[in-house]
Amino acid sequence: MDGRAALALPPDAFRLAAAREAIASLGLVVSEAEGIIWHMLDFRLTDHPKARATAYRKNGEQLSAEEKRALGLRSNAYLSRRAFSEITSKGMASPLEAHEKVLLRASFSLFRYLVIQNPSVIDGHEVNYLFDVLNIACPVCKPLNGTTISGNDAPMFALPGCECETANFGYRAYVDWLANIE
Ligand SMILES: [Zn+2]
Repeated sequence: MDGRAALALPPDAFRLAAAREAIASLGLVVSEAEGIIWHMLDFRLTDHPKARATAYRKNGEQLSAEEKRALGLRSNAYLSRRAFSEITSKGMASPLEAHEKVLLRASFSLFRYLVIQNPSVIDGHEVNYLFDVLNIACPVCKPLNGTTISGNDAPMFALPGCECETANFGYRAYVDWLANIE
């Protein structure tokens, strides 16, 4: 999905698309968890996804100490029955992080969406967006770092072949103030 398609969606529909993309890409939680991921994916960005996902697994009836032990978790770890029921077999490799990683990936999508809401022109200067790549080990993201793209064309989700678990690339508004000076 590019920026043009994302901005054509109502914000809550984009939130749902971001939750679904993260769930499908990571495979750590079941698709039935899209409602809770959507709910935790808040536009107000008041706290870190890690804090939100932790609060979620702390809330409600917890697995017994014996059940936690069987999963390789410490007895004082928090994992509610509801959160546990949403974790896939792949996610069980690290059950305390399954929701958190999905939420983090969806949050990076939301950040990108929020950044491109800026006006595309400032005082006659076109605003583009600079790729800000955090994981330069990724063969797809690395060459993009420092390049610019229009908001309409900016990918909202990870590009094909991207190896970044949370697709943690971002955009920064960029204006070439010297573009029209001769
Ligand atoms: Zn990547």
